[in-house]
Amino acid sequence: MSELIIKDLHVSIEEKEILKGVSLTIKSNEIHALMGPNGNGKSTLLSAIMGHPKYIVTSGSITLDGIDVLTMSVDERSRAGLFLAMQYPQEVPGVTNSDFLRAAINARRDTPIPLFSFIKEMEKTIKDMEMKPDLAHRFLNEGFSGGEKKRNEIVQMRMLKPSMAMLDEIDSGLDVDALKIVASSVVALQKEIGCGVLAVSHYERFYQLLQPTHAHVLVDGKIVAEGNEELVTKIDTEGYDWLYKEYNIQPVLEVKENKTFTLGTCAAPKKGTQV
Ligand code: ADP
Ligand code: MG
Repeated sequence: MSELIIKDLHVSIEEKEILKGVSLTIKSNEIHALMGPNGNGKSTLLSAIMGHPKYIVTSGSITLDGIDVLTMSVDERSRAGLFLAMQYPQEVPGVTNSDFLRAAINARRDTPIPLFSFIKEMEKTIKDMEMKPDLAHRFLNEGFSGGEKKRNEIVQMRMLKPSMAMLDEIDSGLDVDALKIVASSVVALQKEIGCGVLAVSHYERFYQLLQPTHAHVLVDGKIVAEGNEELVTKIDTEGYDWLYKEYNIQPVLEVKENKTFTLGTCAAPKKGTQV
């Protein structure tokens, strides 16, 4: 039985306060849905729990089974049972998927996993996720499609068997079939090992497959509403406006980046050509 307890958590990024007092308790066998408009702190919460160095916890506490998580390094948090399937998985050229996973598994064992058992389990997991068999030997996420990166996060989750799994928009970039594969894989693992799950998604369709036991809405760095699957349905049909009115709150508006583009030489007119 595991229990992740977050109390009055305040988190800043580059001196700007993003989380303004979040409290949340997740136990084994519970599936929590975390919703909220973009740019209001959902990923910040997950990254702070996992220990991303950019996200500075200024006050509050996080404990896993009574042990202070905030004093742990990222790898210690992972070995303690925390897992984060990232919203934007990073490409790591030069490290194969299988080497990465084997190292992560061995880091939590006294003796290394026998190679044969590892290969067998990895092949089975990749097959279950309906992914290409060469995936194990390719560099981690390099050249993977958006959907392959997301499925690969679940391959990692299934192989590492965390006690608390956090999924950050794992459904984005997945087509309908892939969504079903990913959701049923999470549900199957959750039932098998009884882990707690904290899942960020904007879509009821994903939550219908996941069947959350609890739901929370994060606006401007605070949890402003809590409930169960009914809350997910209400937000899906009515959006967030009713919440802003009912609780007299203002969401943080997401700032869209103005990306600047430079034209390559191929776009420059050749000397003497008329433009
Ligand atoms: P959500 O996941 O709810 O869409 P985020 O937690 O990603 O929101 O972002 C909350 C705020 O924190 C936004 O204003 C975002 O720009 C800022 N933020 C998040 N991550 C970083 C970062 N690594 N560097 C700078 N600002 C960040
Ligand atoms: Mg996010």
